[in-house]
Amino acid sequence: MADDEIRSKSSSGGVFTLCADLILADGGYVCGAAFTNDFRSVEHIIINNPDELFKLQKSKYIQSDTKYVYAKIKNLLNENDSPVLFVGCPCQADALYSFLGTDYPQLYTIDFICHGVPSPMLWAEYIDYLSGGKNITHVDFRSKKEGWKPELLLSATFDDGSLYTETNNGLWYTAFLKNSILRKSCSHCRYANMSRPGDITIGDYWGGAGNTEYDDGKGTSLVIINNKKGMALFERIKPFINCLCKEIKLESAKDKNSMLMKSGIESGREEFFTQYKKCNNIYKALSFISSELNNIKRRKAVSLISDEAPNRNIAMWGAGKDGTEITKDDKIREKLLFFIDNNTDKQKNGVEINGFKYSVYSPDNAVALLTADDVIVIVSSRFGDEIEKELISREVKNKIIKLK
Ligand SMILES: Cc1cc2nc3c(=O)[nH]c(=O)nc-3n(C[C@H](O)[C@H](O)[C@H](O)COP(=O)(O)OP(=O)(O)OC[C@H]3O[C@@H](n4cnc5c(N)ncnc54)[C@H](O)[C@@H]3O)c2cc1C
Ligand code: SF4
Repeated sequence: MADDEIRSKSSSGGVFTLCADLILADGGYVCGAAFTNDFRSVEHIIINNPDELFKLQKSKYIQSDTKYVYAKIKNLLNENDSPVLFVGCPCQADALYSFLGTDYPQLYTIDFICHGVPSPMLWAEYIDYLSGGKNITHVDFRSKKEGWKPELLLSATFDDGSLYTETNNGLWYTAFLKNSILRKSCSHCRYANMSRPGDITIGDYWGGAGNTEYDDGKGTSLVIINNKKGMALFERIKPFINCLCKEIKLESAKDKNSMLMKSGIESGREEFFTQYKKCNNIYKALSFISSELNNIKRRKAVSLISDEAPNRNIAMWGAGKDGTEITKDDKIREKLLFFIDNNTDKQKNGVEINGFKYSVYSPDNAVALLTADDVIVIVSSRFGDEIEKELISREVKNKIIKLK
C-alpha cells in the first residue's frame, strides 16, 4: 500500500502510482487510461510529466480507446532507452505485445484483474442523461467517501455544484456488475487465468477487506508478480510502500477475486440491448434490466429445467439468492425435493425460502437419498464447474443440470 495521499487518489492501494512515479522519475513515459475533457469517454494517453499523472489514476469502468498509443509506444521504444510503463486491461497489454512483435528491455507492463468493460457508447449516453445538459466537472467510479469497500460508489459532479452518487444498486453499477452491458468478449475472456500478459497484475485485495490487519478503509492492493521484470519493478517500489506489505498465498487472492480465474457470466445482455434498441433511451433500458434481471434469470432457469428434466424431481445445489429466485416458480417448487449444501448450519437447521421450509443435505447424504430418476440442479453459475466436479468425484449417477 502506498501512503494515504496516494491511496486517496487511487482505486485500491495505489500501486499503479508508485510504479508510475518511479518510471517518470527515471525520465520515462507512462501510458494509461484517462477521461476525455468532457468525461463522456476514456482513452489511453502517454504522459511524461508527473503533473499529469492524476489523469491516469483511478479505475474508469468503461472501455478505453487505445487510439494510436501502440504505434507511439513503438516509436518511443525504438528511438530512446527511456523506460515506458503501459497499464491496461490484460487484452490491451497483450495487444501491445502483438503490435510490437517483440519485448523491449525498457518496456514494463501492468495488467489488472478485469471484471470486463462496458460499452463507451452507453456510458456517454448515461452521463449525458445524468448531467441533464450541465457540464460535467468530475467523475469518480471509485469514490472513497465511504471508504474502500467491495460496494462501489460512483460520483459525478456538475458545473452548477450539484453531485450525483450511485452505489452498487444504482442503474449503471447493477448493469455493469451483473454483466448486462459488457463487451461480448468479456464473458469469454482469454485472460482470466494465471497466464497474464503483464509483468505485474494489480487489483483490489478483497481477501483482506474487513480484516483490520489488511484493511484500514483507505484501500489495499493485490499485486501479482508475473516475471523477472515485474519483480525488478516491484523491488524498486518496495522502499516507497510505507504501510503494510505482506506476501500472501495465491489461493487467498483467488478466493475473493474470482475474476482472476474466471470471466463473469453474461446476464440479461441480450434483453438489455433489445430493450435499448426498442426505446432508444439509456435510462429506460437500464431501469428495465435492473428490475427484470431476476425475472429473466428465473424464466431461463425454469425453461431449462422443464426442457431437460420434464416430470422429474430435482435436488438443488444453491440455496442463496438465485435459488430463492428460482423457487418462486410453482413448477420448480413442486419438483423440488431438498437443497444440497456443504454448509453444516444449513444442514442442521434447513432453510426457509419464500415461506417454505426445505431440508438441506450434505452432498454424500443427498446422493444416498436420490433415486436414479432424480435430477441435480446446480444453481451457482460462477462455481458450477467446481460443484459439478465435486459431484462427479462422488460418482453421482444422476443427471446434472448446470444453470447459466
Ligand atoms: C474496467 C476495470 C475492471 C476492473 N475489474 C477488477 C476486478 O474485477 N477485480 C479487481 O480486483 N480489480 C479490478 N480492476 C482493477 C482495480 O479497479 C484497480 O484499478 C487496481 O486495483 C489498481 O488500483 P491502484 O490503486 O493501484 O491504482 P489506480 O490509480 O486506481 O490505477 C488505475 C490504473 O488503471 C488504468 N485504467 C483505469 N481505467 C481503465 C480502463 N477503463 N481501461 C484500461 N485501463 C484503465 C489507469 O490507467 C491506471 O493505470 C478493474 C479495473 C478496471 C479499469
Ligand atoms: S474481461 Fe478480458 S476481454 Fe474484457 S476487457 Fe477485460 S481483459 Fe479484455
